[in-house]
Amino acid sequence: MKLYNSASRKKEEFVPHEPGKVSMYTCGPTVYHFAHIGNLRSYLMEDVLEKFLRYEGYDVKRIMNITDVGHLASDADTGEDKMLKGAKREHKSVMEIAQFYTDAFFADCKKLNIKYPEVVQPATGMIDDYIKVITKLLDTGYAYVAGGNVYFDTSKLEKYYVFNDHDEEDLAVGVREGVEEDLNKRNKNDFVLWFTKSKFEDQALKWDSPWGVGYPGWHIECSCISMKYAGEYLDIHCGGIDNAFPHHTNEIAQSEAYLGHPWCKYWMHVHHLNTNSGKMSKSSGEFLTVSLLEEKGYDPLVYRFFCLQSHYRKGLVFSWENLDNAKVAYDKLVARVAALAEDGDVDQAVFDQYKAAFIEAVGNDLNTSLGVTALYDVLKADTNDATKRALIASFDQVLGLSLLDKAAALKEKEAAPVEGAEEIEALIAKRLEAKKAKDWATADAIRDQLKEMGVEIKDSKEGTTWTRV
Ligand code: AMP
Ligand code: ZN
Repeated sequence: MKLYNSASRKKEEFVPHEPGKVSMYTCGPTVYHFAHIGNLRSYLMEDVLEKFLRYEGYDVKRIMNITDVGHLASDADTGEDKMLKGAKREHKSVMEIAQFYTDAFFADCKKLNIKYPEVVQPATGMIDDYIKVITKLLDTGYAYVAGGNVYFDTSKLEKYYVFNDHDEEDLAVGVREGVEEDLNKRNKNDFVLWFTKSKFEDQALKWDSPWGVGYPGWHIECSCISMKYAGEYLDIHCGGIDNAFPHHTNEIAQSEAYLGHPWCKYWMHVHHLNTNSGKMSKSSGEFLTVSLLEEKGYDPLVYRFFCLQSHYRKGLVFSWENLDNAKVAYDKLVARVAALAEDGDVDQAVFDQYKAAFIEAVGNDLNTSLGVTALYDVLKADTNDATKRALIASFDQVLGLSLLDKAAALKEKEAAPVEGAEEIEALIAKRLEAKKAKDWATADAIRDQLKEMGVEIKDSKEGTTWTRV
């Protein structure tokens, strides 16, 4: 597979550290609110990557953290504590909030066919590991204590701005609007590894440490959780593009300083879901959830289909009109699959040919829209229905659109007797009798009764037909 690597800014052939095995780390949700469908675009595209690697035969281990601590409202080391904000809003404890929104997150993932990771680790469960890593960073001179906090010293690194596409001034925390400069820092991009003092003294969760009672910085959790479950060499690290700086840059800095060698080889960043008013975010703008899509009558898989139709490295604009178009296309696709006959033998040569085309398409930096096109090519192919069904089942292991299940459900629905049909037919027969007896009053009364039941009738030479309106 070829994958665009944000670290090298090139499309590269994917070669894992250990043949046949892939370790994949995903920055998980900050669980102070529901995930919006923008967050879920990132998880969804990462899910396709994971499924494609499995399809290619790799043994994949996917690791995800749950940010339930170390979560200040800005990317800098200042800002309000997001978890505490959520707890206050809902009059619950921080841990209750974390559990509730963690469960809600995985329920949304399930509806979108996003597989549950092999490892899910809440950040609060790893305090000893953070202390171990921070202690070594202090011992080796990569960190310093100032004003009660422990900071990472970015000047000790030969290379810091791995994902920095901006100029240094823009990245300087101190000059960002609304963010106060932290005078304890030796260099403006230094970041906190452990807080004992912050502007927000009402932090809910605190732990004892060699530097005093406090709590970890946000970045350290991902480095430690990844190293615990994937070891010293991580194959792929994923996340939304907004995490590239400073979060991922800081992860690299502290992990490599700790390990003393390169850490993660491939970085995959998913670009944002935007609305017409900008990036969809938890703190501002339009906030759309999977539940809202369902309330409005959309199958969550329509949203998955919508995401697959565009490339993960391009911003995607959400609008209801765009989603409606995806719904029409998805429903048609399901109907076409439902129309395929279920018997017959698979033509292996044709199967192999189309499967190779699908791998070629999706294996080129996860080109999912071409993967979807490959599905349509199968439906149009000059082969029997058994081969088509087998190919669709195969591609769907990666695309995750539940096409055969949805098609089966559609067929079942179409075959099922319509509720109330017997009663309607009986009334129509009674009306016919009345008409024969020239009892127009009764015939009209029955027509009105049917109308009230939401049934419209049409008389023709062939007889009377009815539809629900
Ligand atoms: P959070 O729960 O805020 O930590 O974000 C969870 C994931 O969603 C991170 O990987 C973010 O980079 C990603 N993300 C946030 N906003 C968007 C968006 N509008 N579109 C796509 N991904 C996003
Ligand atoms: Zn992370």
